[in-house]
Amino acid sequence: LELQLRQVHKTEAIGTLAGGIAHDFNNILGIIMGYAELARMEFPRETTARESIDEVLKATHRAKELVRQILDFSRTREYERKPLRLVPVVKEVLKLLRASLPSSIEMDQAEELPAVGDLVLADPTQIHQVLMNLATNAAHAMRGKEGRLRVALSPVSFDSLDPTRPVELSPGKYLDLAVEDTGHGMSQDILERIFDPYFTTKKAGEGTGLGLSVAHGIVKNHGGAIRVFSEPGQGTVVHVYLPVLESVEPVEPPAPSSTLPGGN
Ligand code: ADP
Repeated sequence: LELQLRQVHKTEAIGTLAGGIAHDFNNILGIIMGYAELARMEFPRETTARESIDEVLKATHRAKELVRQILDFSRTREYERKPLRLVPVVKEVLKLLRASLPSSIEMDQAEELPAVGDLVLADPTQIHQVLMNLATNAAHAMRGKEGRLRVALSPVSFDSLDPTRPVELSPGKYLDLAVEDTGHGMSQDILERIFDPYFTTKKAGEGTGLGLSVAHGIVKNHGGAIRVFSEPGQGTVVHVYLPVLESVEPVEPPAPSSTLPGGN
């Protein structure tokens, strides 16, 4: 437990520090981008100068994306939670992905997305982000190869004796959002570190090492849990468990007022 607590404090400290730096850095990036855009317009197309400016802009965009992730990670503000249906969120992310995945990656949305009972108490943008981070990792693990990305949503119920229940979850009903890929998978060594902030096996500029720690933080805050199963050379499946919001009993309609005798 002590080790866990130390990890939490360390993570928080890194988060706060990184958040401060990221914020200032973001402003500076804004200035660089603004002037680069202005300069770009001064150069005619197909000149080396214009190409160089385009490279500067591309790099600044990447830096902005990195900063955004760091800010998300360190942000402590409360998000707005509301009763949220997961199916539409999943569908929206799938639509975005379909447009951006290379054609070598086949996408498969498990048909059995339940139409009812998919209610959770959650912040839509945060859930969107969790799913995007997982899907991006999955796509990356299959890069340059044929592969299949599968997203499934199914209800699960854990009772107190269930050996498959993640320890941090209390018994009850959950939604299991699973993202599965047929990519390169992970060794045990890597698997043990994937939730550490800034842990990445990707080249500089391709990964920040924040995707899974951000996802983990969000899911934990929502009273859920993440479990990752991976087989080197075979693929990976990530399960996100979110507590189901038991549907609130519909308000009883007022009893029909008895018709007064003689009324019209
Ligand atoms: P990043 O993707 O920026 O590296 P993450 O925190 O999202 O940061 O992931 C950390 C590491 O976990 C990745 O660098 C990669 O080694 C590993 N990883 C995450 N998802 C997968 C996956 N679906 N398949 C294989 N490896 C993965």
